[in-house]
Amino acid sequence: MKLVLDCHVHTYASGHAYSTVKEYMDAAVEKGLALIGFSDHGPAMPGGPHPFHHGNQQVIPRHYKGVTLLRGAELNIIDFEGRIDLEERILKRLDYCIAGFHDVCLEPGNQAQNTETLIKVMQNPYVDILAHTGNPRWPIDRQAVIEAAAAAGKIIEINNSSFTNLGRKGSKDNCYQIAELACRHNVRMIASSDCHIAFDLGKFDYAAKLFKEVGVPETLIMNTEASKWLGYLSEKGKVKDLTERSV
Ligand SMILES: [Zn+2]
Ligand SMILES: [Zn+2]
Repeated sequence: MKLVLDCHVHTYASGHAYSTVKEYMDAAVEKGLALIGFSDHGPAMPGGPHPFHHGNQQVIPRHYKGVTLLRGAELNIIDFEGRIDLEERILKRLDYCIAGFHDVCLEPGNQAQNTETLIKVMQNPYVDILAHTGNPRWPIDRQAVIEAAAAAGKIIEINNSSFTNLGRKGSKDNCYQIAELACRHNVRMIASSDCHIAFDLGKFDYAAKLFKEVGVPETLIMNTEASKWLGYLSEKGKVKDLTERSV
């Protein structure tokens, strides 16, 4: 099973990442990916970009040497009411949004608080994907989160860097349990590299191993065809026009 798209990508604009849009575009071509999406951190991340950075992504071409390019964001959850750090006027310009907890934007709560917060975040129509939910720094009631994702039609990320990132040490077992629950409740998953440098784009070794070992059916994996992911977004009224600004 080939995973052909990566939508968790940080450019230099995120403040602690090291590659440019163009470097990622070329890396996507080199690696044979069909689609990538830029998901720089929301402005609450220390060193993160101004909201205008997210809002002006229409200048990025839609297609580059056979690779489709999407405009996204990794939103920070900034309180236990489930608020996120971009305003609606910016959110409505984006193709998709990932939302996640980051310790530098909010102190981790207890299991009940974190769970309730994620459930509230899932009520936000602009949020498509929940990021790195296996992070043990942010304990959650996995069953409750997956049931809410099923009800809200949200996608659970299997974040490849959670298996190696020291800041999310201990994620592995949680990720496996989350994927098993997601299978049981028919919740779709997306593998992501969460790359902060172009060399890591499309790196899915741990996520692919998880899909195989858990036995996740291809129907629940968004990365196998660009049309699957684009279909999900267009059902939500997103990515209306993929034709402009081709290069
Ligand atoms: Zn993150
Ligand atoms: Zn990220």
